[in-house]
Amino acid sequence: MKAVMYVRVSTLDQDTDRQIEDLTKWADYKNLEIVKIYQDKISGFKKGFEDRESWNEMISYIDKNNISNILVSELSRISRRQVDLIVFVSECSKKGICIHIQKENLTTLNEDGSENSNAQMLISIISSMAQQESSSLSYRIKSGRTNAIKNGRGFSTKIYGYEADENGKPKIIEEEAKIVKRIFQMSCDGIGSPSIVNYLNDELEDKVWKKGRVQSILKNTFYYGKMEYNKEYFDVPKIITIEQYDEAQRLRESRSRYTSTRQHTNPFSGIIFCSCGAPAYQIVVQLKNIYQCKNNCGVKSVNRLFLIDEIRLLLERNAKLSKEESVREKMNTKLEVELANIKSLEREKLKIENRKDRNYEMLLDEKISEKAFNKFNDTYHTQISKMITNIEVSGKRHRELLNALQNEIVHYSQDIDIFKSQILNVVEDVIVHQKFAEVKIAGWAKGIIMIYRGQALIKYNRLKTDLKRL
Ligand SMILES: [Zn+2]
Repeated sequence: MKAVMYVRVSTLDQDTDRQIEDLTKWADYKNLEIVKIYQDKISGFKKGFEDRESWNEMISYIDKNNISNILVSELSRISRRQVDLIVFVSECSKKGICIHIQKENLTTLNEDGSENSNAQMLISIISSMAQQESSSLSYRIKSGRTNAIKNGRGFSTKIYGYEADENGKPKIIEEEAKIVKRIFQMSCDGIGSPSIVNYLNDELEDKVWKKGRVQSILKNTFYYGKMEYNKEYFDVPKIITIEQYDEAQRLRESRSRYTSTRQHTNPFSGIIFCSCGAPAYQIVVQLKNIYQCKNNCGVKSVNRLFLIDEIRLLLERNAKLSKEESVREKMNTKLEVELANIKSLEREKLKIENRKDRNYEMLLDEKISEKAFNKFNDTYHTQISKMITNIEVSGKRHRELLNALQNEIVHYSQDIDIFKSQILNVVEDVIVHQKFAEVKIAGWAKGIIMIYRGQALIKYNRLKTDLKRL
C-alpha cells in the first residue's frame, strides 16, 4: 500500500534525517511503500495547520492520488493542540485515511478500514497531556529562555549555581553549588522554605534569600542536569541527583497540605511511645520535623510526615477491610464472644459477691472466727477486683469492635487537624522501634509500619510517588 511520510521538526536546529530513517524502517516493517516525504520546520504550538506549507501540499496530494496512509513519528508532529488533532484524525478516518504514529505505536484504522476506537481514545488522552505541556512551554517562551535553548546554550538568564563559560554553556560555580545542595538536603530532611530562608540568611553574609527564591530553586530541573524543551532534553552539569529532586517535590507538596501553623499539631500526642517505654515527643524546629524518644535511649527518631502518611494509609487499608463482608462477619463473631465473656464474668462476680456476703453473715452469727473471716474476705475481695478489671478489658474490646464496625471513615483527611480528630477513638497507641512502628488500632490487631530513614526514605518515597503516577 502506498503511503506518505510527514516529518516535522519543532526547533530550528533539530535534524530531520533520523526521523526519516526511523520512519522508513517502520514503513518497511508495515509493508507500506513511501511515495513522498513532506517536511516542515515550524513550531507546532504556535501556528495552525494553515501555516504549514508541506502539510497543506501533502493533504492535497493525498486527495488527488487516493493515498490512504500517512506516517508520522509521533502525535505531536501533527499538532500539539488537542482539538486540531482530534478533528484531523476523525476527518482522515471518514475519508478512509489511516494515520500510523510510530512513537505511540498507533494506527487509527483497523485492517478492515473501520475506526480503531482504542487508538482514538489514546490519541485523545495523549494529546490532552501534550497540550498541558505546550502551555507550560508558552510560559518558558515568555520567560525569555527559548533563545538560549535554540542556540544550544541551555540558559541565557542567570541561574543560581551556574555561570556561562567562554562558549556560553552553563558551568557550575562551586561556592553556589554548595548552597544549592544544602537547600535540597534541608528540604529532603523535611524543612520548609521559610526555615531554609532563615537558615541561609543567618548563615550567609548576603541577606538576599527570600521564600520565592528558595522555592524556585527547589522546582528547577536544571539542578539535576536536565533542561527540558519541547520534548528534547538538554544535558547540563548537575548539582544534585534526580532522587533528591523528586523527594524535594514530594515533600513540598505534602508540606503545602500541612500549612505552617499546622506543622505543630501533634496528631498522636499522648499516645506515641518509644519502644523503651518512654513517650516519644514531636520536634518541629527549624532543622527537625520528627518524633524522638524522650529518654534518648538510642532508638532513632522517625520523620514526622512519613509517619503521619504511613499511619493514614494503614488506617485507610483497615477501614476498607472492615467494610468487607467476610471481615465484618469475623468481627461480629468476636463481638459476640466478647459479649458472652462479659456476661459470664458478671455471673462469676455475682457468685463471689454472694460468698463474700455469706462470709460476713457467718461472722455476725459467730460461726467463724474473725481471723478466718478476714482471710476469706481478703481472698474474695482480690477475686472480685480481678474480675472487675477483666470485665473492663472485655468491655473496652467490645466497644472497640463496635467502633470499628460502625466506623464510617474510609478516607482519612490530609488536613492535620481533621486527621487528629478522626483518629481520636481509632488509634490507641503508636510504638516506635528502631526498624518499625506498631500501631494499635481499636478493634484490630497491631498494624506494623516499616520505618525508612535517610537515603532509604528518599528511595521509598520516590517509589511511592511513581506508583501514584501510574
Ligand atoms: Zn526510648
